[in-house]
Amino acid sequence: MYETERQELIKVLIGKGITDENVLKAFFRVERHLFVPEIIKPHAYSDVALPIGHEQTISQPYTVAFMTQALELDERCKILEIGTGSGFQAAILVDMGMKVYSIERNYEIHQRTQKLFDDLGIRAALIYGDGTIGWEEAAPYDRIIVTAGGPEVPKRLLKQLAVGGKMVIPVGDRNSQTMQIITKISETELLKKEIPNFKFVPLIGKEGWKNE
Ligand code: SAH
Repeated sequence: MYETERQELIKVLIGKGITDENVLKAFFRVERHLFVPEIIKPHAYSDVALPIGHEQTISQPYTVAFMTQALELDERCKILEIGTGSGFQAAILVDMGMKVYSIERNYEIHQRTQKLFDDLGIRAALIYGDGTIGWEEAAPYDRIIVTAGGPEVPKRLLKQLAVGGKMVIPVGDRNSQTMQIITKISETELLKKEIPNFKFVPLIGKEGWKNE
C-alpha cells in the first residue's frame, strides 16, 4: 500500500539533500502509515510531523532521514534512541541492520509501540523510563540519537557513548533547537557540528526539562 506515495516522498528527501542510499532504501521499505493513527494515514507520506496522541508527534520524515544520515552508520552499530514515540525512527534503524535500544518516558506510548513492534515482528529492545539518564545496562553505544529537544546534552549519555561513536541531539529552548552532531574522539575530547532551526517536542527528565 501507498507505494507511489513512498516513492514521491523519497524524491522529496533527495531534493532536500539526503544522499545516503541505505537511508533512502530504508524509507522505501518501512511503511510510515503503519506508525500513525488510522485517521491520518492518508497524510503519512507528506513531509510533515504528525500527531500520535498524548501531545506527541512522529517526526517529519526529512528530520528522521537527516538524523539517520548524520549518524553515518556502517556495519551493525549498537544504537541507543531516546524518545521511542511511534517507533518509526527505531524501525528505520532496525531495517538498516542496526541493534536498537529505545527508551520512552510515556508508559502508554511505550506499551502501544511495543505491541506494534510485536505485531510487525520488528526486533528492538524498547525500554520504559527516563532516557536522559540513558540505559547503563547495555552501554557503551556506537551511536546515540535523541528525538526530543532538551536544554543541554545529558552528561550520562555522553558517558555511555563509545569512544569513536557519534551522537545526534537537538539542543536549545522549547521553541527551537540546534542539531548537534557530536563525535567522541576520546574520553575527554568531543568534536561538535551544529545545524540550526529544528523543532522537537520537549525532552523531559532528570537531565532535560523539568516539567511538561
Ligand atoms: N522517534 C520518535 C519521535 C517521537 S517524539 C518517532 O519516530 O516517532 C519524542 C518522544 O520522546 C515522545 O514520545 C516523548 O514522550 C518522548 N520523551 C520525552 N522526554 C523523554 C525522556 N526523558 N526519555 C524518554 N522519552 C522521552
